[in-house]
Amino acid sequence: MKIGFIGLGNMGAPMAANLAKAGHDVTGFDMADISVEGVTMAGSAAEAATGADVVITMLPNGQILRKVAEEIVPAMTKGAALVDCSTVDVDSARAVAEQAQAAGLLSVDAPVSGGIGGAAGGTLTFMAGGSEAAFERASPLFDIMGQKAVHCGEAGAGQAAKICNNMILGVTMIATCEAFALADKLGLDRQKMFDVVSTSSGYSWSMNAYCPAPGVGPQSPADNGYKPGFAADLMLKDLRLSQQAAESADADTPMGALAQALYARFVEDEDGAGRDFSAMLPRFETRGR
Ligand code: NAD
Repeated sequence: MKIGFIGLGNMGAPMAANLAKAGHDVTGFDMADISVEGVTMAGSAAEAATGADVVITMLPNGQILRKVAEEIVPAMTKGAALVDCSTVDVDSARAVAEQAQAAGLLSVDAPVSGGIGGAAGGTLTFMAGGSEAAFERASPLFDIMGQKAVHCGEAGAGQAAKICNNMILGVTMIATCEAFALADKLGLDRQKMFDVVSTSSGYSWSMNAYCPAPGVGPQSPADNGYKPGFAADLMLKDLRLSQQAAESADADTPMGALAQALYARFVEDEDGAGRDFSAMLPRFETRGR
């Protein structure tokens, strides 16, 4: 397949490399001067999109996605598919899908879970929104870049699933950090706390797979000075998207709102910017911040 890939950052570059490695003809574009093994670089987004069967975007946010869509949709061949794997707001996902449909294109919003490790290893999970035909077109590519793809519904459903998942993740990470900090104060050994909670009803991905306490549980960013991993800034972005969505859908999400406020403080007023989102744990070691 001829593939255009726009946005070759931490996630996009390894995803595009995996498609090229699998034998696809990949032409890429990024604002930054980036080269990716096996990928031919184009001079513009429109050039990368021209003649492609599928164009994949992996961009920072909805505003940039909308801007890039203005450039690539007119350049794409009728019947081709636009697959956006960025995490963006549901409104932007739906607006781009409408624009693509009006131009005779198939489109899927397909944000991912699994982080940089998953992108490099081809083990991402895709949550997709769009028509059955669009999902089917993108599926062979999801199989190369990931290990699972769930067709969640119509346009925007993939972003809705991603936002809900990450709202749970933000909330459970904070609760796990708080619980470790409380356990410390109660004189409970962190390893014992992990041994109990990871096999009891308080277990979660935050505790079991990504434990925020250094030296406890499986290898995680806590064991690497809280170097991301998944940056607190990106968690804040996703929590903001969840609260934006909750407001526009009139949904009540008080825990999500509190998680957003805590991550905003951590990233903007404390020392959280550029650190892993599990670096919340040391922050809770001092009461009343
Ligand atoms: P990144 O900042 O490393 O990459 C984004 C790339 O887009 C950059 O290389 C940038 O130069 C490029 N770009 C920006 N504007 C552009 C434009 N107008 N035209 C072409 N290229 C442009 O970010 P990332 O970590 O790769 O994340 C990409 C997306 O994936 C985000 O939406 C993020 O929320 C989501 N995501 C990231 C992770 C993660 O662990 N990093 C996990 C899941 C989802």
